[in-house]
Amino acid sequence: MSEKIPVAILGATGLVGQKLIALVQRSKKFVVVELSASDRSVGRKFGDVVIWRESDPLDEEVARLQIIEADQIQCRHVISALPAFAAKEIEPQLLERGHLVSSNAAAKRMASDVPLLLPEINPTHIELIERQSSAGKIVTNSNCTTAFIASALKPLMALGELNHISCVTMQAISGAGYPGVDCVDLLNNLIPYIVGEEEKIRAESRKILGAIDKPADFEMTIHVHRVPVMHGHTAVLHLQFAKEVSLESVNQAYLANHNLYKLHTAVDRPQPAREISPYDPFVHIGQIKQGKDCTRVGLTVMGHNLVRGAALSALENLEALINYGQ
Ligand code: NAP
Repeated sequence: MSEKIPVAILGATGLVGQKLIALVQRSKKFVVVELSASDRSVGRKFGDVVIWRESDPLDEEVARLQIIEADQIQCRHVISALPAFAAKEIEPQLLERGHLVSSNAAAKRMASDVPLLLPEINPTHIELIERQSSAGKIVTNSNCTTAFIASALKPLMALGELNHISCVTMQAISGAGYPGVDCVDLLNNLIPYIVGEEEKIRAESRKILGAIDKPADFEMTIHVHRVPVMHGHTAVLHLQFAKEVSLESVNQAYLANHNLYKLHTAVDRPQPAREISPYDPFVHIGQIKQGKDCTRVGLTVMGHNLVRGAALSALENLEALINYGQ
C-alpha cells in the first residue's frame, strides 16, 4: 500500500475538527500529523485540551500531538475548520506560503476564483483554482445546510427549469459548534433565526448549482430554524417547476445514485435520530409528494451536518485538489 498523505487540521478541537480527525483515523489515504487551534490551546497536548465528542476512540499518537500556531504548520496539505473570522486572517497566509487548503469556513466560499465544491454535485468547479495567483491553492465546501439542499436539487434540475424554491430548515445544535446554543434558549423550543444562514443558503446554492462563471438564477424563499436535535439538519423543499414533473421521475433521479442518496418511502421517515450514525455519509431524501398541480414537488432532505455537511466534504475536496494535480 502506498504511503499515507500527511495532513494538518486547523480548528482541531472544534466539532468539525474532531469529526475530521475521526474520519482521517479511518482513512486509508491520509494521516493527521499537525493540529492547530486558538491561543488558549496552543502549546498543550491535543489529548489534554480536547473535549472528545466522537464515538471512535482518539488515536494515542494524535492525542500526543502538541497544538501549534497556524504559522508553524509545515504540512503541505491543510484542512481548515476555523471560524470564518479566524479563517479570513489565517487562510491567506497559508496560501502565500504555498499550502493546499481545503476549508470548511465561509471566509472565501463566495470568492470568484475559489471553488465552492461538492465533488458529487459540481466537480468541474475545481477548475477555478487555476485563477488563483497565490503560491498555494484553496477549495471550500459549503455551509452545512446548503450541502443537503444543493445535493437534493441537483438531480431534479435535469427534470425541468425551476421557477421557485421554498425552503424551511430545522437545524441541529451541533451546527453551531461547541458548546453551541445555550440549552436554556433551546430546550422545549425552536428558534426561527440563525444569523447569516438564509443568505448563505441562497448564495451558496446558486454558486454550486450554476456554471463556473454564472450562478443559477432560481428564486428561493427561505426560513431557517434551530431545533433541539443533536446532529442532523433537515430541510423541507417545495419546488415550482416551469413544466409538469412526475413523481416517478423524481424518485428515479435519487435512486440513480445509491452512493450519495438514501431514499426513504416510509410515511414517518427520514428522522435524524433514526437515520444518522456517527459517520453517516448520506443525503437522506423522503416525503416526496405532489398535489393536483404536477408542476409542484415537495420533499424532505436530511443529513449529518458534521459529516456530509462539513468534515467528509472537506476531506473529499482535499482529494479532489490532489487528484486535479496539485
Ligand atoms: P467550533 O466547535 O466552535 O470550533 C472552532 C475551532 O476553531 C476550535 O478548534 C477553536 O479552538 C478554533 N478557533 C477559534 N478561534 C480561533 C482563532 N482565533 N484562531 C485559531 N483557531 C481558533 O466550530 P465548528 O462547528 O467546528 O465549525 C468550524 C468551522 O466549520 C466554522 O467555520 C463553521 O462555520 C464551519 N462549519 C461548521 C459546521 C457544523 O455543522 N458545525 C458545518 C459546516 C461548516 P479552541 O478550542 O482552542 O478555542
